[in-house]
Amino acid sequence: MILQIKNLNINYEVRNGWVSAVQNVNLSIKENETVGLVGESGCGKSTLGKSLLKILPKNARIDGEILFKGENIAPYNERQMRKIRGKNISMIFQDPMTSLNPIMKVKDLFLETIKAHYPKIPEDEAFKMSAKILEEVGIDPVRMNEYSFQFSGGMRQRVMIALSLVLKPDLVIADEPTTSLDVIVQAQIMEVLKKLKDEHNMSMILITHDLGVVAELADRIGVMYAGHLVELSTAEKIYYEPKHPYTQALLKSIPNTNIDDRELRYIPGDLPNLVKPPKGCRFANRCPYATEKCHNEVPPDFEVDGTRVKCWLYEKVKA
Ligand code: ATP
Ligand code: SF4
Ligand code: MG
Repeated sequence: MILQIKNLNINYEVRNGWVSAVQNVNLSIKENETVGLVGESGCGKSTLGKSLLKILPKNARIDGEILFKGENIAPYNERQMRKIRGKNISMIFQDPMTSLNPIMKVKDLFLETIKAHYPKIPEDEAFKMSAKILEEVGIDPVRMNEYSFQFSGGMRQRVMIALSLVLKPDLVIADEPTTSLDVIVQAQIMEVLKKLKDEHNMSMILITHDLGVVAELADRIGVMYAGHLVELSTAEKIYYEPKHPYTQALLKSIPNTNIDDRELRYIPGDLPNLVKPPKGCRFANRCPYATEKCHNEVPPDFEVDGTRVKCWLYEKVKA
């Protein structure tokens, strides 16, 4: 296992209490595996992703274990984390416009990243490494002399990907890497990620609110709802045999582009208030199968046909 997340809880302190953004999440990621994390806005995907690099805002509190290659990095301080970031675990952010310094030349962005971990590396060697990865993401290395603002959105995202991968990390967290791009560019970037992931034998957590996007890339998919990881299985089982009522609803909400019925079905109801989360299942107020018990007790994780599902409907199946 490259990563094992055990009983992870993340709370944000706010004026009127604590936001329970991630609760009791358990998730392991194998070498070379891609795990997709899906769920609607506010369900805790980015919070979970950022916690792995400890780049959460100051009002966040992390409890639980994050084992990277067997070592618990949850208690690491900033100095210890700096050694890991970029080199062992790296992140590709949603918006390359704001996460790449526009007034630096691309070659200097690379130099800065590489030197942070290898301060004594000769510059020509650093540029060789940069040129190689730029080529792999489909950018002519001569463009290293340009500033990142001279690149289009899609090209800038490629630069961002190259920067995250130049030190060959074992694990990459891609947080909505294509949402700010148009559909055609989105598909190209996904292709690039897929190719690189295979060539570099890395593990990846691919965060998106779009179940369609992860279909091709993810080996397994985790579905989050209001801070809970409600279902975890192979991509195939999530698509063809979704077990959790929320996953089922989410799949129905994907517009069907093959037939005339393009109406986007939505899930009625709202996300619960995470400062005062529901006592029981967090999906209960929107779930067509909710019972008294669902409202009162948080369901544990049940194993059903190789799928892990957090729902009382599967209690009997287990017995
Ligand atoms: P999106 O799809 O919109 O990116 P997400 O799944 O990434 O959503 P998060 O950004 O992780 O969701 O947010 C999870 C919850 O934590 C939300 O209720 C959000 O309002 C809350 N939250 C996020 N950041 C903070 C913060 N700094 N302080 C307080 N609450 C926060
Ligand atoms: Fe619905 Fe109950 Fe399952 Fe929650 S535990 S998803 S409310 S059936
Ligand atoms: Mg997010």
